[in-house]
Amino acid sequence: MHVSHRTADSPLQFSMRDLARRPGQQRTESLEFPAPAVFGTDVIAVPQGADVKLEVSFESVTDGIWVSGTVTGDAVGECGRCLDEVRLPVVAPVQGLFLYPEAEREDGEEDELDDVFEFDGDTIDLEQLTLDAVATELPFTPLCDPDCPGLCDQCGARLADEPDHAHEVIDPRWSTLQSLTEPKES
Ligand SMILES: [Zn+2]
Ligand SMILES: [Zn+2]
Repeated sequence: MHVSHRTADSPLQFSMRDLARRPGQQRTESLEFPAPAVFGTDVIAVPQGADVKLEVSFESVTDGIWVSGTVTGDAVGECGRCLDEVRLPVVAPVQGLFLYPEAEREDGEEDELDDVFEFDGDTIDLEQLTLDAVATELPFTPLCDPDCPGLCDQCGARLADEPDHAHEVIDPRWSTLQSLTEPKES
């Protein structure tokens, strides 16, 4: 018999009723769902509503639940040089320790570990964790190709489509000299 441990509110909320305060107990979940939000940044993201896959394990430890897994999706963005569409599969590691409200923490521990969270002991919400994981995994400047030559700074032509694209330099002082030399490669 399959028992869903997810709560109705969000695909990324998980009930911990069978694991909480039972150190050593473990559960894995594998699910696909439409992205409840934009997963990514302004320049590249898995769009809201696109398929996202989450494979995650919940492990009950002394002070809470240790979460680890991966979130997978297809990000769509814009090439930082030529503005063409960029599609990028993303597989982002997800991990964090969700502490019970009463768990004692050593001084300074919170500051050192940015993957430590608190939860009510009942339900873990992985939305923020997975959003951050995907955003971290995506490039700051997506490129359609590592060698994308970008756009002509004079007319905006996409240089990858026109490898020989060049403009005549209209400056009478140089016209004589230019006729003797090849156009300069950029
Ligand atoms: Zn490009
Ligand atoms: Zn041009």
